[in-house]
Amino acid sequence: MAQQELLDDYRALGSSHWLYTRNRDRWEFLLNSYTGGDDYRTAGYLTNYQLETQGEYNARLSNTPLDNHCQSVIATYMSFLFREEPERDFASWEGMVDVEEFLKDCDMENRSFNSFMKQTSIWSSVFGTAWVIMTKPNLGAVTVAQELEMGVRPYVNLLTPLVVSDWRWERTPGGRYELTYFKYVEEVIDKITVVREWTRDTIKTWIMDDTRKEAYVKMEEANELGLIPVILVYNIRGITKDIGISDINDVADLQRQIYNLTSENEQSIRMDGHPSLVVPPTAQLGSGAGAIIQLQEGSDPGLNPYYLEHGGNSVASIHSSIDKLVEAIDRISFTGGVRSTLKKVSSGIAMEVEFNLLSAKLSEKADNIELAEEQIWRLFGLYQGRAWEGSIEYPDSFSIRDDEREFAQLVQAKNAATDPVVLRIIDEQIVELLDEEKQRLPFIDPNPQVGRLYPDGEIIPDSLPAAYQLATNPDVPPGENCGNCEYYKPGELYCTKFDAPVRAVFWCAKWEPVEEEEYASVPDADTMKQIQDMIMTGMTNAEIMSALPGVTVEHIVYAAAEAARNNN
Ligand code: SF4
Repeated sequence: MAQQELLDDYRALGSSHWLYTRNRDRWEFLLNSYTGGDDYRTAGYLTNYQLETQGEYNARLSNTPLDNHCQSVIATYMSFLFREEPERDFASWEGMVDVEEFLKDCDMENRSFNSFMKQTSIWSSVFGTAWVIMTKPNLGAVTVAQELEMGVRPYVNLLTPLVVSDWRWERTPGGRYELTYFKYVEEVIDKITVVREWTRDTIKTWIMDDTRKEAYVKMEEANELGLIPVILVYNIRGITKDIGISDINDVADLQRQIYNLTSENEQSIRMDGHPSLVVPPTAQLGSGAGAIIQLQEGSDPGLNPYYLEHGGNSVASIHSSIDKLVEAIDRISFTGGVRSTLKKVSSGIAMEVEFNLLSAKLSEKADNIELAEEQIWRLFGLYQGRAWEGSIEYPDSFSIRDDEREFAQLVQAKNAATDPVVLRIIDEQIVELLDEEKQRLPFIDPNPQVGRLYPDGEIIPDSLPAAYQLATNPDVPPGENCGNCEYYKPGELYCTKFDAPVRAVFWCAKWEPVEEEEYASVPDADTMKQIQDMIMTGMTNAEIMSALPGVTVEHIVYAAAEAARNNN
């Protein structure tokens, strides 16, 4: 091949999408901000001082640690997003060998599909988007069974925007966007770069030699799928197509500011502890604490050595600036309540608002990852000649709460409460907070009223309050009785507030009006009168229904409610 052609191919392969060219530096900054460590140090994100030598700058770089907020924020999001595994309904694909193998090892590098999706979510969180490409080797197998025997099945690869240098979309007649060109760097070995170029018809593997400025095709295969099997996974969609919104866009800038202030802090402490010494050029200096400085005999006393006072920012003011920046990170990422960086206590409402905002953000991220996974399974089906009919469900509700604060509030409320009913409600909430299933606790009366009898001699249950009395007593507000109380179960003649049987014509101070209900059918006037009489004699639902054929529980409830309303 002519030298000029190799050079032309090299140049053509080096061309990139305008969005790639525009965002590349920013993506690199986001990547370094997320990975931290040596990548961050070598990128040199400290601002140069005037007249600072390279050696001094390098020394500052190695003395400045990075407090990595980008990683902390993303790890916080992931801990909520992937706390529970997504629910996958494979419909007719359930139990299929290729599906099971894909779930266990989706990238042929022993990574489970759940772990792959988590990684995809992490990188789309860093860059705003990530690409997933699915391929399937062609080893000449004819049937799916033969392919399985040969270990051939689709597998996925995750590509960050930094390696995808060019792509093109076209609208199909149906209005959908479809990729018609896709180019990415598969591998870099020193000065050799392996590039893959996909079109609807071909897949070319190029070798780029950066030393000789040459490029040649190492392998060309037919794209049997007829489409480019690539999915663009958004973190959160922005207004520019193909560019999502990174979770650490602003956090990374604030983190860089904190990094610079940390360096200032180190310099300030160093200057306070080891101030610069000004001496005449003829002075002989010793080293170490208490060292001796020798001046020439008869030298000008005005040239005596002195310490150069440090007039920079105080360490305290640098710390306070760092605290403000950390607060800003917490605020914009909605993680103040969950990253435990807050030094001041927010109000309960502020915390609730923050939790709601965080929950909404996580929900949007979950929707996007769910959409990406569905597209992955569709591609899998295309490769395997089957249609995807299943469904994927990622958690989209994240009930984030401050358990410690709620518990403290409940304990405070319990100490203040005197009413046993209120105490029971508080206990029920504590049980729920301890992650136990929500349940109704039995009513325990700390002050049981013993030895009381109804006029007919029946014992009044101890748990009913001291104020429990006949509804006709003059102290009782007219029209109120157990029969028309919210807590009364007419069919069972039972009070749910005090967990005890009661009589409809009695009353206590906890009476609450019953809410009006809609009844599908109501008994006629005669039947209603009979039911009401039977209720007053203390008959149970079953006894009433067997005495009055055709009467339902709903009739009894209606008759009881009517009786209560009329104060019968
Ligand atoms: S008035 Fe209500 S709360 Fe009081 S005992 Fe009767 S049903 Fe229970």
